[in-house]
Amino acid sequence: MLKLTDLTHSALPEITQPVSESELPSSVAKRVKRSVLSAFGAVGGFNLVKASRWRTSRLLVLGYHGVSLYDEHLWEPALFLSPGRFARRMELLRERGYFVIGLDEGLARLAAGNLPPASVALTFDDGLYCFHKVALPILERLNLPATLYFTTFYSEFQEPVFDVLCSYVLWKSRSRRLDLKSLTGDDGTFDLGNACQRQAAEAAILRYASRENLSARDKVHFGERLAFELAFDLDFVKENRLFSLMTADEVADASSRGVSVELHTHRHRVPLERTAFLREIDENRLRIQKMTGRSSVHFCYPSGYYSQALVPWLRESRIQSATTCDPGLVSAATPAMVVPRLIDVSSLAESEFEGWLCGASAFLPSRHRELPLESRRPAEFVARTESVCRDALRSPGLMEITTKLREYDPSGKARLEWLRALWTRGAFPAEAQAAITAARAVAGKADFGFERVLLLEAALGSLDRLTDARLDLATQALVCNQYEFFVNPGEDWRHRFDSSSYSYRAYAGMSLLDRIPAGRLDWEISGIPRSWIPKIRRRDLPRVLRAIATKIGGFKPVVFTHLAFRQTPFATLRESDVNASYLRIARCLALRPELKAIVTASWFYSAETHRVSPHLRWTTRMFEENGGIVSDLGRCPEDAGFLVGSIERQKLYESGDYKPTEGVILWPRRAVLEWLSKQPDAAS
Ligand SMILES: [Zn+2]
Repeated sequence: MLKLTDLTHSALPEITQPVSESELPSSVAKRVKRSVLSAFGAVGGFNLVKASRWRTSRLLVLGYHGVSLYDEHLWEPALFLSPGRFARRMELLRERGYFVIGLDEGLARLAAGNLPPASVALTFDDGLYCFHKVALPILERLNLPATLYFTTFYSEFQEPVFDVLCSYVLWKSRSRRLDLKSLTGDDGTFDLGNACQRQAAEAAILRYASRENLSARDKVHFGERLAFELAFDLDFVKENRLFSLMTADEVADASSRGVSVELHTHRHRVPLERTAFLREIDENRLRIQKMTGRSSVHFCYPSGYYSQALVPWLRESRIQSATTCDPGLVSAATPAMVVPRLIDVSSLAESEFEGWLCGASAFLPSRHRELPLESRRPAEFVARTESVCRDALRSPGLMEITTKLREYDPSGKARLEWLRALWTRGAFPAEAQAAITAARAVAGKADFGFERVLLLEAALGSLDRLTDARLDLATQALVCNQYEFFVNPGEDWRHRFDSSSYSYRAYAGMSLLDRIPAGRLDWEISGIPRSWIPKIRRRDLPRVLRAIATKIGGFKPVVFTHLAFRQTPFATLRESDVNASYLRIARCLALRPELKAIVTASWFYSAETHRVSPHLRWTTRMFEENGGIVSDLGRCPEDAGFLVGSIERQKLYESGDYKPTEGVILWPRRAVLEWLSKQPDAAS
């Protein structure tokens, strides 16, 4: 077996941070999952699943970013693996008899129905120098084919990648404080030993770079000033090329040694505008072609970010497959433009890794399943969303509307008030009418340009305070996702921006950070409506009032949840989605000590609905088992949605055998937190 010392650059000094990989955080639930998997593996379970028809007809694509040249895996264990760990993973593929296949061949044979059993494809994102220096020799020694998704800008521009460098410099300066005043002009000192403050400093720097539209050159200078401020040895990073990309010669060399080099955009970004997006692909492809002599046809979404709107443009670019960072295995039925991938990270135990190789882990709950954004680092995704929104407002169509609106409201303060009025009262105020009419005349009504300008302007303000808004990371990612949707909703969802629709009202709340997305559910801060009291089922009333007085401790503030407007054509309500939403909400509640409870009401929480649709019984079970109070408000309004999705319920309703009522849930804070403490990965 390969030893770490064989691979470390001889010129590199000893790693001084006293952190070992075994000390990386690991929640209890994760340890339980690991022991379950170990036990499963010990009884031969891995081999059984591996040989199953299910696994034989599927391809597992593994994704890697970097293999450390020095101590990068201690800084960002999700992006970098130590050389020893990486080598061990690759050896395991060989030892356990997996068939490592090129991505192109794997996808082709999957489609043709002759995929070799237990197939695995290896992919590497970005093309950092460490791929050539450390990973490639290991792959060659074991004779493993690989695909490299190469982003070209920083290859020509041989400087460390800016945001990665900043983050690393801040981490290495954990014993220091940073005053940003001289660097960005913003007030604020950060204790870099504190992870939250370090993250806030990083976010402030990236926001500054986006706000000031810093060029790549400007960023290099900024990096130098930052290093100087923190007395950090930048030459060490540059000489050892810690965060530099492979040069054209190195890419040509890797290609000649059998690595297939594929697309990852020129500047590692996904513009949500067609021409700009196509240009990113073309520039990337042209440069790679010069290096390798072949035209690339496979693509990987930078930072795992993807959107349905991109698919037609990918096809237009003659791209045959696009990989995401959503874990899963690929079957012949998987859409070619959303190919799942397991991103291998340092914290994945060997049993978990093997669980994924054989396919068993695809059946275990995973926290990253529907959150591609979460795979990105927080400061990075907030800054990215900010620049996406800013670019959209600068685009010709929306720019004209903004210019027109400034004639009526130069500071933009009134626009924020109009949006707030729509959110709280359901309509724009009368004094906004003249401006609205003028803006719509510029926009052409079909576009809802005026409505989107208002949302995006408010969103920019909210992004500025997002990292301080006491929302958990997954929720911050969902907020960013939602704002990027405002930029490019696609034809199918345009109608939702009609300002008289309920959806637009909800979007207004989101852009003001008053309505928060949680996946299948949205939530807002509210109170328990006093109008409920006379409607509560009589026999429940004493119990409910007692709970409000003692367990909850008052009527407000509480979290009130609603069904979300999801950008999906199917109105499915799945237990796993709803539970994942409650997990995110509970994490936010934990960060906000003033919130007294989670409260909600809907036809699907009612016993009457469960009587005719027993498959919805799960909707209240979780609350009943975890300290929630379930009751009923009586007859449900006609338009509440209880007829959607079930012909059976429609029939029973028409014949009078289903009298829908509105179920109500009160879940006191303490009970929520107790439930949260028992959830997998709650600690992360
Ligand atoms: Zn990337």
